[in-house]
Amino acid sequence: MTSDLRHGAATDVGRRDTNQDFYLANPPLFAVADGMGGHRAGDVAARTAVEVLEAEVRKDHGALMEAVKAANRVIHEKAVSDPDLRDMGTTVTAMVVGDSSARIVHVGDSRAYLLRGGALSQVTQDHSVVARLVREGQIRPEDADHHPQRSVVERAVGVGPDVDVDVHTVGVEAGDRVLLCSDGLTGVLDDEEIERILEDENDPDRASKKLVEEAVSSGASDNVTAIVIDLPGGPGGGRARIVSRKRLAVFAAAVVALMLLALAAQAVIGTQYYVGENRGRVTIFRGVPANIAGFRLSRVVDRTDLETSSLPEAVRSDLEKGIDAQGVRDARQIIANLRDLRSGRGSPETSPSPGSTAPSPSPTPRSTGGTG
Ligand code: MN
Repeated sequence: MTSDLRHGAATDVGRRDTNQDFYLANPPLFAVADGMGGHRAGDVAARTAVEVLEAEVRKDHGALMEAVKAANRVIHEKAVSDPDLRDMGTTVTAMVVGDSSARIVHVGDSRAYLLRGGALSQVTQDHSVVARLVREGQIRPEDADHHPQRSVVERAVGVGPDVDVDVHTVGVEAGDRVLLCSDGLTGVLDDEEIERILEDENDPDRASKKLVEEAVSSGASDNVTAIVIDLPGGPGGGRARIVSRKRLAVFAAAVVALMLLALAAQAVIGTQYYVGENRGRVTIFRGVPANIAGFRLSRVVDRTDLETSSLPEAVRSDLEKGIDAQGVRDARQIIANLRDLRSGRGSPETSPSPGSTAPSPSPTPRSTGGTG
């Protein structure tokens, strides 16, 4: 199941003449090697490291650290036997993915990151002068990126007859995503930017390309390489589940916000009254004449028989906005006043004016045919 890992890789020369970053994305093995030492030597060192790693791991998936040490021997022998390749070396950050864990080996200042639950953490520790100075508290982390010795590594594959290799084992959890990258990426993008891209771009191939593109467009002077690997997260892929877990959190937050809003609305509704309109009738409401996020902030207290159509236009528009009342009694007084307003206009079928018995016949002259 580790042979169908979703992954993507990208590299760019940056502003250099040649690209001495090499990578390998051949599941379950992934590796980044950033060569150093003269214009051809760095290229040979990085290429050799990747080739030896691949050959060794093919023989034994479990022997990743031994594979790095084997690469170290081969590179170092070439370096001491060929004056053109003297002092060459390379970083190696490599990973073999198993069913329940991933093994990461590391020498130099390339990096492995783990994105888990939306948070990015650096798995490897840079073997560089500035990283040591930061660890020792001699310089501040924020100054490391601009330090003149930021690209000086203290440990590299092939420089000496033997090499110390850092080994990390990462237990695989659903949705885990690993980034292997060269210092050309981390030299220009900070962890927040890397996290954002890894979070936003679900497809690992597009994520790796976007990381490299952003580094290059941000002015990367060094070669830039990124491999993004989605660790096996069970059926359906873990990444999708992480996203839906996030959506669930957003949904839950929205529900809580709406509940608080409803409580606030309830508090408002409990203390205020107004006279308004409901289905064509003058109505007493408790609350305020408003809607917030689909919540009506009022309740009907009493719907009278007084039809709004019987009222003057100006009053009807006041009713639409709501006429404030100090309480139910005040509201009834307002309605009594409205009834008086109405009597002037008259609405024959529902509102006979008090005092008048029956409409008097209009004094229209009877037509008599006009003859005479
Ligand atoms: Mn580099």
